[in-house]
Amino acid sequence: MNYLANPTETKAVLQLFGFDIKKKYGQNFLIDENTVRKIVLKAGVTKEDTVLEIGPGIGTMTQILCEESKKVVAVEIDSKLIPVLSETLSMFDNVTVINEDVLKCDIREISKVYNEGMALKVVANLPYYITTPIIMGLLENYADIIESVTVMIQKEVADRINARPGTKDYGALTLATEYYASVSKVADVSASCFIPRPNVDSSVIRLDIYKERPVKVRDERLLFKLIRAAFAQRRKTMVNSVSAVTDFSKEEIKEALCLIGKSENIRGEVLSLEEFAALSDRLCSVSNDTVM
Ligand code: SAM
Repeated sequence: MNYLANPTETKAVLQLFGFDIKKKYGQNFLIDENTVRKIVLKAGVTKEDTVLEIGPGIGTMTQILCEESKKVVAVEIDSKLIPVLSETLSMFDNVTVINEDVLKCDIREISKVYNEGMALKVVANLPYYITTPIIMGLLENYADIIESVTVMIQKEVADRINARPGTKDYGALTLATEYYASVSKVADVSASCFIPRPNVDSSVIRLDIYKERPVKVRDERLLFKLIRAAFAQRRKTMVNSVSAVTDFSKEEIKEALCLIGKSENIRGEVLSLEEFAALSDRLCSVSNDTVM
């Protein structure tokens, strides 16, 4: 069998099918076998696992995933790639390709149909134009049926996910990933490993989804409302940004901050996940008091 993860095979397949690479779908195909194998290895895929691959492209990583896992379900938006995948994956009987937009896909249904409702491992070289919506969608909607997410993304997004409080990269994405998963950076990948070369640097990260969240809050929606408010206008104080988007008065927010030991002038960009959680629970008590 010819592996696709090299420039010669990839160009031959693209030519054979007269396939024009589409920028609008973020199509940067991997052409480096070491990188593809490293991603699959670091994803910890075994013969027990059902893998969800987002954006298989011409099937480069899918081939290796099929060899290493029990089953691969690959979701690809570009209908022009479906005949290509039928050919390049024809030697595998453990793969299903679904022609759909992953952002509209019911991943719970995929887990039910292809893995008896059990947890999936997500592995992908993501289309960079929708990296954040894909990662946030997986975490917010499917954390209970996903075991891990190992994905190639822009290095700049990996830096935001891995950021520390008070730095310029720290933000809502950092806190959301920290809430749902333990994060590790697996590799940095050179632009020369893709056709066409992306004009940004790339990294592979692995998110291991927590079975229990590292912080417990009384109202998860309020926690994320506070986080979004804090970073919508980072230079504003928490008092101003939270009062602008909630019914809490400035006095109530100041008091809640005081009760968690923070200054009333503090900005959200320096608060840790635990501190956001504490503030959220304090404000939750205020709203309960108001109701009663
Ligand atoms: N996995 C292949 C590889 O590594 O060579 C291709 C990766 S390429 C960066 C991203 C792939 O995602 C493309 O095949 C693209 O068509 C597909 N894609 C883009 N948007 C998508 C979406 N919303 N849903 C599913 N697939 C998508």
